Amino acid sequence: MTESTEKPIVLIVDDVAANIQILAEALKAECRIRIANNGEDALRVAMRPPFPDLILLDVMMPGMDGYEVCRRLKDTAATQDIPVIFVTARDDAEDEERGLQVGAVDYIAKPYRLPIVKARVRNHLQLKHKSDLLEKLAMIDGLTGIPNRRQFDQRMEAEWRRAVRDKHSLALVMGDVDHFKLYNDHYGHGAGDACLRAVARTMFNALSRPGDMVARYGGEEFVVLLPDTNLDGAHKVAERMRLAIQGLDIPHLHAGMMVVTMSLGYAACQPGEDAVQSPSQLLDCVDDGLYKAKRSGRNQVATIMEDQS
Ligand SMILES: [Mg+2]
Repeated sequence: MTESTEKPIVLIVDDVAANIQILAEALKAECRIRIANNGEDALRVAMRPPFPDLILLDVMMPGMDGYEVCRRLKDTAATQDIPVIFVTARDDAEDEERGLQVGAVDYIAKPYRLPIVKARVRNHLQLKHKSDLLEKLAMIDGLTGIPNRRQFDQRMEAEWRRAVRDKHSLALVMGDVDHFKLYNDHYGHGAGDACLRAVARTMFNALSRPGDMVARYGGEEFVVLLPDTNLDGAHKVAERMRLAIQGLDIPHLHAGMMVVTMSLGYAACQPGEDAVQSPSQLLDCVDDGLYKAKRSGRNQVATIMEDQS
């Protein structure tokens, strides 16, 4: 991701040092330049953070040519979204087509016309910056500013795999604001939005470890992912959140406590060695716990699992 305060990184790959020098000279005012003289070096530099924002890639190089470098970049998750511009003396249509087929975004022919090179590089860097920003925004809930369900789903998958590998337990907490529809009906949607923002902030503040995550699951429903946590630990987090939300003292005339409260379910398992076989089964368990808390009178925490602590 390009930091707005830092100049973007451009990797220039060419087996002829003079070509690198011309391009570097033209671009150095606007970019931080990295260089590589062959395909293997190009891959080494490109696959190590901080990742380049753009790669200018010579096609004709001894050893690994530009097509192969590009193919490998596109096959690697960490580098597949880095735009590649092919730079070549061979500018007939067939080469251009081949370059675009292996995933290049553009083509620049030698000899360079530097104003054109600069303009194209600038355009592609702007596009890259925008798509990075969109990707970031697409993972954040617009109302509350916390991770959205999409980001939660991705983290959940990753943490599940990690828990299987490390033989750690994994816990979830799911919370739902009590009588939220009545709150919206009575206080209006603006107040409803403010209430959800306060709830999200409060749940976030109730987490103490950097690996823990709270996400907006949808509507007035929030989910908390707790790596390396057992059922007892999940219970504690859920109860801490319940008390903190009640402690916000947000008036709610239609709720039992006369303030906004939350019902929470919690669940935990040992991924890979347990009756719970998948992330979606653990989600079902925590959802059942939440339903139990609602049915038992709200503003409480519940689980359908047996506490073995
Ligand atoms: Mg060459």
